[in-house]
Amino acid sequence: MKGQLSSTVLRGLGGSNTSPATRLQGYEIRQYLLDKWDRACSYCGSKEVALRVEHIQARTNGGTDQVSNLCLACDACNKAKGTQDIRVFLTDKPDLLARVLAQAKAPLKDATAVNTTRWALYERLLTLGVPIECGSGGLTKFNRTGRALPKEHWLDAVCVGKSTPEQLKISGITPLLIRATGHGNRQKCNVNKIGFPCSKPKGAKKVKGFQTGDIVRACVTTGSKQGIYVGRVLVRTSDSFDIRTRAGRVQGINHRFCTPVHRCDGYSYQNGVPYAQKNPTQAT
Ligand SMILES: [Zn+2]
Repeated sequence: MKGQLSSTVLRGLGGSNTSPATRLQGYEIRQYLLDKWDRACSYCGSKEVALRVEHIQARTNGGTDQVSNLCLACDACNKAKGTQDIRVFLTDKPDLLARVLAQAKAPLKDATAVNTTRWALYERLLTLGVPIECGSGGLTKFNRTGRALPKEHWLDAVCVGKSTPEQLKISGITPLLIRATGHGNRQKCNVNKIGFPCSKPKGAKKVKGFQTGDIVRACVTTGSKQGIYVGRVLVRTSDSFDIRTRAGRVQGINHRFCTPVHRCDGYSYQNGVPYAQKNPTQAT
């Protein structure tokens, strides 16, 4: 949900001259409205456009700031409606009028389910006696925006909770990017397009204590491939391993030259770009 927000600009509610608490509430309400109205203009259905928080009954006509009186509108619809009553504005579109009014009163079922589960989980975690704090999508964005940080997963992780420090010293930090790659599959051999086996059965997963995906360091002292190679290994029952190094793939390395550096655990690890290098002007 959080990732989708970047393409949608939402304005209105809680300007920069209001108190932090009010502004935070504005962020939470915006998140809620984006989910509730499916990130689209409630009147014309436009997506991927700047959306405003729209009062269904205009404030000048006694409309409140309650969520049940709020929807989303693109600039064009926002201007076209102005302070008109929604029944006048949508007089030609009774179906749409009924839909907007019904949706405005509808609670967000998914959000309710998530909230209930979240609080139940929180209560149980509390009984463990370890320090725990809760965050939300709105609070994360509030913290990130207030500190002028770019939208990155690793920076969001530090902005999640109330304990996020005012000053974040992130200059020069290189994030470690970890990706779940899985442990391979259980398929025993390759099959052709109608499902008949068309290759030999898969060999043993472990060969001489090594497994495909392990990171190894090979120090080859004899033969034509002398040198030191570090990378992921591809094992063969013939003992002739391949090593995928940064410079490319090296074939035919005997297992006795290899020492394990990191056992395959279903994740890939990669260094990201150091913070200042990527964002030279925003480093703090
Ligand atoms: Zn619109």
